[in-house]
Amino acid sequence: MKYNASVVGGGTAGLIAAKKIASYGIETHVYDQKKRLGYPVRASGILSIKGLKGLGIDYSKCITNALYGANIHCDGKTMKIRSKKPIAHVLEREDLNNVCRDEAERAGAVIITGMRISGNELEKFRDEGVVMGADGAVSNVASHFKLGSIKRFALTYKAEFNVESEDSGVVELFFDNRIYKGLFAWLAPNAKDILEVGVGVDSRYGNAKSSFDSFIKSEYVKRIIYNKKMLDSGASVIPMGMRNRIVDEEKGVLLVGDAAGQVKQSTGGGIIFGGNAAIKAGEAVYNHMKSGSGLDEYEKAFRKEFGLDIRLHGAINRIYSSMGNRAFGNALSVMNRLGIDKFLGAYGDMDRPSLILRRFFLRSLA
Ligand SMILES: Cc1cc2nc3c(=O)[nH]c(=O)nc-3n(C[C@H](O)[C@H](O)[C@H](O)COP(=O)(O)OP(=O)(O)OC[C@H]3O[C@@H](n4cnc5c(N)ncnc54)[C@H](O)[C@@H]3O)c2cc1C
Repeated sequence: MKYNASVVGGGTAGLIAAKKIASYGIETHVYDQKKRLGYPVRASGILSIKGLKGLGIDYSKCITNALYGANIHCDGKTMKIRSKKPIAHVLEREDLNNVCRDEAERAGAVIITGMRISGNELEKFRDEGVVMGADGAVSNVASHFKLGSIKRFALTYKAEFNVESEDSGVVELFFDNRIYKGLFAWLAPNAKDILEVGVGVDSRYGNAKSSFDSFIKSEYVKRIIYNKKMLDSGASVIPMGMRNRIVDEEKGVLLVGDAAGQVKQSTGGGIIFGGNAAIKAGEAVYNHMKSGSGLDEYEKAFRKEFGLDIRLHGAINRIYSSMGNRAFGNALSVMNRLGIDKFLGAYGDMDRPSLILRRFFLRSLA
């Protein structure tokens, strides 16, 4: 049995896991190669309010905007989804990382920054205790311990501009399988006067920077960012699909967050699933140390609660990625005619498509 925990990676997933493990009084160290955690920010921070509440983080000081809707565009057609109440917050990602770090430290975890962990350290950590890989999409922990692979990635490029949005509560999503096949382009009001412009594209089909350049040259975006100051920009990667193995019981290794591929493939959002996984992984580590139960309890618990939703997000991504633009545009028009835009506004759930389906069938029966 192992009696301490080494968490590799101090992103949100690693820090939430470390907080949970340390809160049981278990010696917990978090290692991150970065000196300044969460910086530079290469990802957005749009999180459902419902999902955020479940993570138990005091995120209130990180909120920069509230969102209540989305416009989905393809081939000149638009579907507008609006909720009466805000459904998501935009959070400042470095602030969120700092809050998670403070909470982990308060629970007793020791955070060591500026230290890149490689094979030798991993073997040492494994001899000493449980190893948790929270080291992002291209996980060194996963490859060192030969856990399952991630077969598909989306490449992203995004920038922030000093722009006052016309409607600062609405995200615009643009689907075009000739330019951003596999994901989409977006305009997201990160704050009332800061607009994020980004694209994601399946790594097999395109290059994020050239897709981004096409996007900002489109008439729609050019008009909005004309003469505006670009504040920050950069590239990143999103895992598109979960590894088929995220626990090695014998070696005492677990993966959480992007390292495990716990991402919604339909949108690329990973904090809610990764954070929930981190909590479950922390509980499994505690039970393992206290009563000898298997670390794989974590994988079972995660797949039981979120497995169907992870698969549904994958199916949604496969559907829109395989449709031609005209077919997708027509589908948006049909959905508008069927009132699906209104249904999603009233009953949509950003994280759990299984709940939307359940509500849809219950409503049809009623
Ligand atoms: C453009 C973009 C937009 C996004 N928008 C959203 C969004 O709106 N909402 C949402 O929920 N999600 C979003 N995501 C996804 C979200 O950012 C990730 O799911 C989330 O950051 C994953 O957290 P993590 O802790 O698992 O990994 P990461 O945040 O990647 O953290 C991994 C950490 O491990 C460290 N590390 C890596 N290797 C080593 C090593 N060998 N030794 C030590 N340290 C190491 C890294 O320095 C890093 O700090 C977006 C992603 C991108 C790219």
